[in-house]
Order: sequence, then structure tokens, then C-alpha cells
Amino acid sequence: MRILVTNDDGINAPGLKCLEDIAAQLSDDVWVVAPETNQSGASHSLTLHEPLRCQEVSERRYAVRGTPTDCVIMGVRHILLDHPPDLVLSGVNYGTNIAEDVTYSGTIAGAIEGALLGVRSIAMSLAVGFNEDGEIHWETPMAFGPKIIRQLLESDLPNEVLVNVNYPDLAPDDVAGITIARQGRRDQQNLHIDERHDTWGRPYFWFGFERRKSNPIEGTDLWAIYKGMISVTPLHVDLTHQPMHDALKGIFRGEGKV
Ligand code: MN
Repeated sequence: MRILVTNDDGINAPGLKCLEDIAAQLSDDVWVVAPETNQSGASHSLTLHEPLRCQEVSERRYAVRGTPTDCVIMGVRHILLDHPPDLVLSGVNYGTNIAEDVTYSGTIAGAIEGALLGVRSIAMSLAVGFNEDGEIHWETPMAFGPKIIRQLLESDLPNEVLVNVNYPDLAPDDVAGITIARQGRRDQQNLHIDERHDTWGRPYFWFGFERRKSNPIEGTDLWAIYKGMISVTPLHVDLTHQPMHDALKGIFRGEGKV
């Protein structure tokens, strides 16, 4: 099995090393194509107005001056063109990709691009920031990741479906279990805008996110992470809202236009 590993935190991120180690437990044919710099929040963006630089940094490891989407396209359609990957793994992201995070996430986008290119794709993230012990438990995705991936590969992934796995930032023995979860939604806005001034007195801004817990619905990815469980959520690329689609059909049909 050929595995393509990417991420959005960049080629030197510890989480990428973690996912490479997970992949190495599944196959000896592992390739890495990852962004040169941190692309968190890049979502599913493509580089279209700049040249795409791609450097082989070591054997089977490439750094692309672009987004995770660029990386997966370069991996599948250029670097591994003669023998495309059987699996795309994206992550392990530093921080959750749950609830509305998935719409901003470059990590999820790497898996979306893999799915669009017809490759089974799994995104993995570690919910850094929710524990109080100050440690980052990369050993937890290491401990559970290979088995979860093997189990996911046993099921048929429909076209354009990817799987989003989030790990609680707990020691492996403290993980409460695995939940097949729905995408949740935070019930509060935790974004704040920090205004500062440069040496010329001009304002500039940083977006920041507070680690405030919301009160999520049971069975959602947020709820699972708060409960110390690993969250596994299948996502699909089709964003159509079916009830609204059907309602609109009725409304427009009434006007004789559909
Ligand atoms: Mn990231």
C-alpha cells in the first residue's frame, strides 16, 4: 500500500513526524509532500497566481511552497503520477479540527483533495489545549492511529467521502474510547481580534481563539473530545443542504419556474 502523507502545519511540524511514524506501521511505501510553511487556516485553497516551488528535502520527502491542497495535487498528479497512492493521510494537526473548524482547516482540505482525486483519505488532529498538564500527547495518535486506519480501510469509503479523526490530548491510558460522531457546532464565538500598533503608529490585527468550552450536543465531535474520547467523523464534499433544497424546489415550482 502506497501512502501519501501531508499536513497544514508544515514540513517540520512534530505532528507530521507523528503521522509518518503511524504510516510506517502500515506500509514501507510512505511518501511525504507537505507545505514549506505553516498553512493552518488555509482551507481548500489552491495556488494559482504564484509559481509552485517543490523541493525534495530528503528521500521520499518533498516541501511545497503552497497549501495542503497544492501538496496533494503535486503528490498524486506529479510526484507519484506513475503509481498513485492508495491512501492519503493528513495531519496530525496541532489542534482540533472539529465543529466549524473543518471549514477553515488546511488539514481537512488535504484529505478533501485526496478524496476528490479518488484516493481514500483520512485527516487526523490532536486536540491540543484542552488538558491542564501542559504536555502534548503525540503518543496517543501513535498508539491508536494505526488500528483506526486499518479499521477504516476495511469499510468502503463512498466517493468524495473522507474521514476526520480527532484525538483528545490525553495519555493513551486516559482515553475514554472511540466515538463515531457527527460534526458539531460551537454555541459561542471564541474568536477575538487583538489590535496592536506598529512603529509608525498604524494599527494591525491578530485573530486569536480562546479555549472556552461550549455545551455541545451529545454525539458530536465536540462532545466526544470534551469527554476524552477519540472522535471519528465521515465528511463529504457535497455541501448541499437537502431539506432546504427540497423546500426551495417547492417554492420555485409554485412560481412555475422550476
Ligand atoms: Mn494546522
